[in-house]
Amino acid sequence: MSLEPKTEKRRGFLARLMKLPAAAALVSLIGPEKLLADSEGESSNPDERLYAMGIQVDKCIGCGMCVDACKAENDVLREPFFFRTWVERYEIHHDGEVTVESIGSGTGVSALEEEEEEALRLRSFFVPKLCNHCDNPPCVQVCPVGATFKTQDGVILVDSDYCIGCRYCIQACPYGARYLDPRTKTADKCTFCYHRITKGLLPACVEVCPTQARVFGELGTRSSPLHRMKRMNSLQVLKPSLNTEPKVFYSSLDGEVR
Ligand code: SF4
Ligand code: SF4
Repeated sequence: MSLEPKTEKRRGFLARLMKLPAAAALVSLIGPEKLLADSEGESSNPDERLYAMGIQVDKCIGCGMCVDACKAENDVLREPFFFRTWVERYEIHHDGEVTVESIGSGTGVSALEEEEEEALRLRSFFVPKLCNHCDNPPCVQVCPVGATFKTQDGVILVDSDYCIGCRYCIQACPYGARYLDPRTKTADKCTFCYHRITKGLLPACVEVCPTQARVFGELGTRSSPLHRMKRMNSLQVLKPSLNTEPKVFYSSLDGEVR
């Protein structure tokens, strides 16, 4: 899997530079990463090149178009329980009870039951979920063969050529973001549509969202919609106490969301 042509270009540049005595001194003085970044007109802020997603919970209408687009784009099995991204409907009842169900999981409630539930409901909302592309990812730490790895731009991927289907990563992920594809017997999950974003396109789920509840971009790039969302909202991540450092950020996230 060839993922980082840019890395090779950068390494070549540095190797050529180190042959010049004055440049070698400069590299040791200011550090190779800063020099490489400056040579490419980039900032040396590492966050700037990290891909991340923002989800504005108050804009999600639970239409499920993102889920369908993801399945079509990434050849995810149509059957329930195989999702790279999914949307949960949270219902908070007057008595404090919280119920959570995945959109499209088909509970098959009748109109009468729906009416009774409406009377119990204090509020309800939708929360899209996916792999958080954690900066400190437990799935990468437990993989015994290095099949799960982090790219230079912060995306967590699975190399299916190396995956032995041991499921350690599925158990280690605290967000339930992974599954074993029964066709390949390898672990699968969201890739932020890596094949699209490295060509300058948006992930399929972001592109189809009719309310722009999902935004995507580089974390530190000032012109990215994600940066704007960060400036204008207070952002939260899921399960912050686990220290996984997710790169999926939520605004207007209810305290009941797990
Ligand atoms: Fe790994 Fe799960 Fe974090 Fe995704 S959400 S990077 S699968 S631990
Ligand atoms: Fe690694 Fe595959 Fe095992 Fe997951 S299932 S830990 S990716 S080898």
